Amino acid sequence: MRMKTKIQIIKAKELGFCYGVCRAIDMLEQASKEYGSLQTLGPVVHNEQVIKKLDKMGIHVIKNIEDVTEPVVAISSHGISSVENDLLRSKSLKIVDTTCPFVSRAQIAARRLAEAGFFVIIFGEAGHPEVKGIMGYAKNQGLATLDSADIDKLRNLPRRLGILSQTTQIPESFIAFVKNILDSTLQRDFEIRILDTICHDIRRRQLLSLELAAKVDIMLVIGGKSSANTRRLFELCSKNTETHMIETAGEIDPIWLKGKNKIGVTSGTSTADTSIKEVITRLKALCI
Ligand code: SF4
Repeated sequence: MRMKTKIQIIKAKELGFCYGVCRAIDMLEQASKEYGSLQTLGPVVHNEQVIKKLDKMGIHVIKNIEDVTEPVVAISSHGISSVENDLLRSKSLKIVDTTCPFVSRAQIAARRLAEAGFFVIIFGEAGHPEVKGIMGYAKNQGLATLDSADIDKLRNLPRRLGILSQTTQIPESFIAFVKNILDSTLQRDFEIRILDTICHDIRRRQLLSLELAAKVDIMLVIGGKSSANTRRLFELCSKNTETHMIETAGEIDPIWLKGKNKIGVTSGTSTADTSIKEVITRLKALCI
């Protein structure tokens, strides 16, 4: 079905790979040239198209350290726990560590807090590889959650709390989370340290996408279904306008464009330029 609607397509000022993903992919491509094939511990980024492209270059994903069969292994941009890191480095392997520096900063913060005797609270998705890795640096002396009520439910909550965030969370949500904890712990002799570990790149991208969403009739957020930062952009843009999250151009339903004059396009941090171009091309074709 072809719509005869005149549509203005506006791209967010920042989209495509973020600094950490560009850096990780550059490092992997360089390593594949140097060593031939290699394995990555978990997907290096949460984007199927990117993973398939890397796979063709000899960069294959494995789930666990026990699955290592190649002499060269890469750590993903999400990082791994200190225990996994030690285990990996105890083997005779060449390690390509693509952990994003923003993630490393959160890992170091968690380790310092735990070493200083703080119970570490991570505002994030407990099952996400980045969060699991950061919690590992806190020697698992803590809790990862998106719901501050989970803190109240803990029996014998330690009186020294260190709070930090998964790098890709929404700053306002982190602030609300911290405020709730402060409300329930103030006047109870707690000592609380708060570290803002949200990544600068994601902060800017969220802001620019939100601004664009306020100006258009519909937003498309391009990114992998398993990409946490893409889901967050979708949540944010949905507050301002009708928003759809898509992984490929083929997922655009022409009916979405009916009666729309301005369409905004943004993407998660692990979305390749080729995917963005395909979406723009399909949108233009639908608007003829
Ligand atoms: S979103 Fe931020 S923390 Fe995550 S890889 Fe990109 S730059 Fe690093």
